[in-house]
Amino acid sequence: MSDWRENIRHVKPYTPGEQPTGESIVKLNTNENPYPPAPEVEEALREAAQESGLLRKYPDPEAGELVRALAAFYGLSPDQVFVGVGSDDVLALSFLTFFHSFKPLLFPDITYSFYEVWARLFHIPFVKIPLDADFRLRKEDYFQENGGIIFPNPNAPTGIEESLADIEEILRRNPGSVVIVDEAYVDFGAKSAVELTRRYDNLLVVQTFSKSRSMAGVRIGFALGQPELIRALNDVKYSFNSYTMSRLAIKAGAAALKNRAYFEQTTGKIAADREKAKDRLRQLGFQCTDSRTNFLFVTHPAWEAAKLYEDLKRENIYVRYFRQPRIDNYLRITIGTGEEMEKLYRFLAAYKG
Ligand code: PMP
Repeated sequence: MSDWRENIRHVKPYTPGEQPTGESIVKLNTNENPYPPAPEVEEALREAAQESGLLRKYPDPEAGELVRALAAFYGLSPDQVFVGVGSDDVLALSFLTFFHSFKPLLFPDITYSFYEVWARLFHIPFVKIPLDADFRLRKEDYFQENGGIIFPNPNAPTGIEESLADIEEILRRNPGSVVIVDEAYVDFGAKSAVELTRRYDNLLVVQTFSKSRSMAGVRIGFALGQPELIRALNDVKYSFNSYTMSRLAIKAGAAALKNRAYFEQTTGKIAADREKAKDRLRQLGFQCTDSRTNFLFVTHPAWEAAKLYEDLKRENIYVRYFRQPRIDNYLRITIGTGEEMEKLYRFLAAYKG
C-alpha cells in the first residue's frame, strides 16, 4: 500500500523577511518604501468603494486599465505589457513559461534567493555563476550554452548596478535564450533596460510597484517585452489562474501611474538619503557596496553581522541578515525615513560589538 505522504512534493521554500507588528518598530528589513503611495491611489480606492459590484463581480482578466496605463507610462503598446500579483508572481510565471529547456538556467551565486526556489520547484536545471570578489557580474560568464538567464539589475542584496552596455552584450551573445532582467530596484537611480526591449526579442524586463511606488501591500508586478513573449506569458497565466489581479489592485495601480512627479520626488529623496546613509555608515566604520537601490549592503570589520542583527532586533530595529556563503557577515538595510535612520545611527554610534 502506498502512503499519500510519498506523493507530497517536498520543497525548501523561500523565506520572506519578518513582518513584525507593533508601534515603535523601525522596519528596515524588507525594502518597503517609507512614504505613502501617490495621493491618487487613495482617491481611486475611495471612488472604487462607491462602485456597485466592486467586490461581487470578477475583475477584468486582462487587467486592461492597468496594462494600458503601464503601456502609456513606458511608451509601449499594451501587447508589450504583462501584469501579475507582485513581481514574484510575474517571475514565477516567467520561469514556467521561458525556462523550459534541458540546458541550465544561469544566474549569479549571490542574488535574489527566490530564483533557486523556483528553479527547483519547476525542475529547471540551473547553474549559479559566482560574482567576482567585488560582487560584480562578469558578462563573459554568460557567454556559455544555457537554457535562459536571469539576474536583477541592480542586483540584490548587493545593490550593485551593471551597465546597460554589459547587459546588451549578454543579450547579443544569447539570441537563443530568454534573458530576464529583474528591475525591482531600478527606479532609485539605476538605468532601465526597457529601451532594449525594442531591439531584442529575447529580453523581458520585470518591475514592481512594491518599492518605488510604495505599494508592496497591493501586490502588483509587471513585465515588459515584445508581444511574442507577452503572449506566451499570458497563455501560461490563463492555464493557471485567469483572475490574478483584483479589481482594487487594477484601480490602485492605474491611479499610481498618473502622478509621475510624486514618483520622481519620492524615489529621488530615497536615492539622496541612500547616499547620505552611505557616508554616515562609513563614518561608523562600515564598508558599503555602491548600492543604487533603496537599501544598503554593509559589513563591519570589527562586528559580527549575525550578532549585530540580533542586537538591533532587541532594540526593535529590524534589518535583513542572510546566513549564506560569502555574505554571512553582511547586513542589508532598507533606507527608511530620516527619523528611522537617525535611530539606527544612534544605536550604532553607541554599539560596542
Ligand atoms: N525581485 C527582487 C530582486 C526582489 O528583491 C523582490 C522583493 N522581495 C522581488 C523581486 C519581489 O517583489 P514583489 O513580489 O513585491 O514585486
